Amino acid sequence: MRPVIKPALSRLWREKQTLQFGTVRRHARLIEGVDRRLALFLELIDGTRDGPSVVAAGQRLGLSAEYCQGMLDSLAHSELLDDAKALHDVLELYPAARGELLGPELSSLSLVHPAPGEAAAVLRGRARARVEVRGAGRVGAAVGTALAAGGIGEVAVLDRGRVAARDCAPGGFPPSDIGRLRATAARELVHRATGAPVGERYRRPPAAPPPPTLVVLAPRDGSAAYTGAAVDAQELMRAGIPHLYTGVLEHLGVVGPLVVPGASACGSCATLARRDQDEAWPRLLAQLIDEGPGRPRAPACDGAVAASVAGLAALHVQLYLDGVLPPSVDGWCELSAADGMVRRLRLRSHPDCGCLWQSGTPRQTGTMA
Ligand SMILES: [Zn+2]
Repeated sequence: MRPVIKPALSRLWREKQTLQFGTVRRHARLIEGVDRRLALFLELIDGTRDGPSVVAAGQRLGLSAEYCQGMLDSLAHSELLDDAKALHDVLELYPAARGELLGPELSSLSLVHPAPGEAAAVLRGRARARVEVRGAGRVGAAVGTALAAGGIGEVAVLDRGRVAARDCAPGGFPPSDIGRLRATAARELVHRATGAPVGERYRRPPAAPPPPTLVVLAPRDGSAAYTGAAVDAQELMRAGIPHLYTGVLEHLGVVGPLVVPGASACGSCATLARRDQDEAWPRLLAQLIDEGPGRPRAPACDGAVAASVAGLAALHVQLYLDGVLPPSVDGWCELSAADGMVRRLRLRSHPDCGCLWQSGTPRQTGTMA
């Protein structure tokens, strides 16, 4: 381990001898009694030396070995240290340009997963993950780029047909992609988000890719974010593949539920819960799904809502892959174009849905396999 005081933390003097690391109060840590020698010692913890070398360098400043080691231990205990070697090694998994882009992501992870080396281990998990986004509309294409930018090893955005004007949105397809095949344009979009140089050829996906770690269901018109019984979802339930519903329907952006098959409420639970509130819901739903006659002629989708929903959906996917349960598990989040508020609604597994019957297993919290 090569200790480094987390570079993502600001260093602020509260007074002459009190140093504050971090601005956000919840994460900020104070070191009191910082004289000139201790300030110089702290400067030595920059990730270029291993622990014993830091102690030796501290001794050259006139500090005792015990004091230096005690200070290192105290900094680690206060979650101020990370392992510069682990941070460097994990970025080496990626091509150089992508590794450079991932710097801020890794710094953020080092604050959220505070033990030395923990952030690097979490990013390694993302690098191994394969996420499929089904639907390349305003939300789906932007979810794909956000996930690629977050270091997910492989992101596949699947759809048919050609990019239409209504598919273009911030973070997703630019208007210059109108008329191109959605699958090709989405592959390039994801490729560009990884920092690959313009013009560099991307690796074509294998003909029979391995099963995805997680699937994002992001239908272009948003309606299937409400259609828990979709064929796609049934297959994913049978295969035990976690999946997240997302989309914008009318003025409402939806993220969730994120379904962990056998361990959390599923899309059908959501449909049944809506039926409990509105007995006509199944009949309405039948008119919405697939090529149902009740579909809107010109679906509404606020661009800012689509971009926000895509970002929130990507964040929930990352949290899940990082081993944290996002609020879309056993719930869903709604973002309203009418007032800009995000609300989280709770979803219980429904007694009429059989999705948890076979589950005697403890709840999974991630897929860091
Ligand atoms: Zn269910």
